[in-house]
Amino acid sequence: MALALTGLRLWDGESEALRPGRATLRIEGGRIVAIGEGAELERDAERIELEGAVALPGLCDAHVHLSLDPERREAVQDASGDPLDTMALRARAMVAAGITTARDLGGPEFRALALRDRIAAGELAGPRLLCAGQPLTSPKGHCWFWGGEARGADELRAVVRRQVEHGADWIKVMATGGVLTRGTTPAQSQFDEAELAAAVAEARAHGRHVAAHCHGTEGIGRAARAGVRTIEHCSFASEEGFGSANDAAVMADVARSGAWISPTVNIGFARFFAEDGSFGKFAQRMNRVYTDLRRAGAPFVASTDAGIPGIAHHRLPEALPLFARLAELRPVEALRTATSDAARALGLDAETGRLAPGLAADVLVVDGDPLADLGALLRPVLVVARGGVVRP
Ligand SMILES: [Zn+2]
Repeated sequence: MALALTGLRLWDGESEALRPGRATLRIEGGRIVAIGEGAELERDAERIELEGAVALPGLCDAHVHLSLDPERREAVQDASGDPLDTMALRARAMVAAGITTARDLGGPEFRALALRDRIAAGELAGPRLLCAGQPLTSPKGHCWFWGGEARGADELRAVVRRQVEHGADWIKVMATGGVLTRGTTPAQSQFDEAELAAAVAEARAHGRHVAAHCHGTEGIGRAARAGVRTIEHCSFASEEGFGSANDAAVMADVARSGAWISPTVNIGFARFFAEDGSFGKFAQRMNRVYTDLRRAGAPFVASTDAGIPGIAHHRLPEALPLFARLAELRPVEALRTATSDAARALGLDAETGRLAPGLAADVLVVDGDPLADLGALLRPVLVVARGGVVRP
């Protein structure tokens, strides 16, 4: 049956301002079929009156780990991960918060892919998922315990093929060490440029894009030049910490490569602000990284690394205002990073990320105008995910 959401103010995912006046959004067969005024949009439809509420495209979190329990510090090192029913609860909480698309960037086993398929089949509520399976990493490198270890180009290609055989949508590679794996450090590179290029070529041969986990500046440059599609974290770290090695030449390489920056700014970043709301030292450093990258011309997507300790899966809406402040984004720019730009980065722009006829009916309706105040995202009224209504 058709669905008509009426009385809406509407942001399409791209425009500078809300659409003037009120609009009805007509949904049929999981798709938006019309946006406009007039009674014919409600014909033979179930009508939901939302007078004055604002509709925007459902949000996208470009970096999550559904198998990880954010309440357990040691969960990250767990080689088995949580059972599917626990992951399903996380997926449900995400979609109820307005997150209708997410990219799962790895975990042990391949359970996120099973969850993806059950959500796609309509058996479980949750965001549309893109999954990376086991991240490629060096022997005993970052997140080695998830099973994606590879030494040299040939082994990297083989691990890429294994992910493809399991149905992975994306390939994730750990280009540098990480914070949460003992024996690795964020600044350290795990692969040389030729090895990363081999992984990208193999992924491309199978129609997959590559997401590269990168903290250290050297690894960021190698990943960008190797042709990865998204750079996760992008911390410009040296031994002196994050944001301590903002190399202009590497930033230019990143911008030239066309890679998207996925900065994983989450609610945990609130601790980097002083009590009066001003930037603490870490926030100052990341503010410089993000504004330098933007000035160089690199595009951004919103992401949170949800699943790591303390970062629940459904809290992207709370993270966006922090990201906006750190990257000096206007609300509309921050919202694009989580909607239309995210869809472009993930190769889903023909499917979602905007409110337009023909696209999937992924809609977040909130009380208040998020273009004026991103805090409105925390007042969801209704969520529609691929045409299915979710009550927050
Ligand atoms: Zn991650």
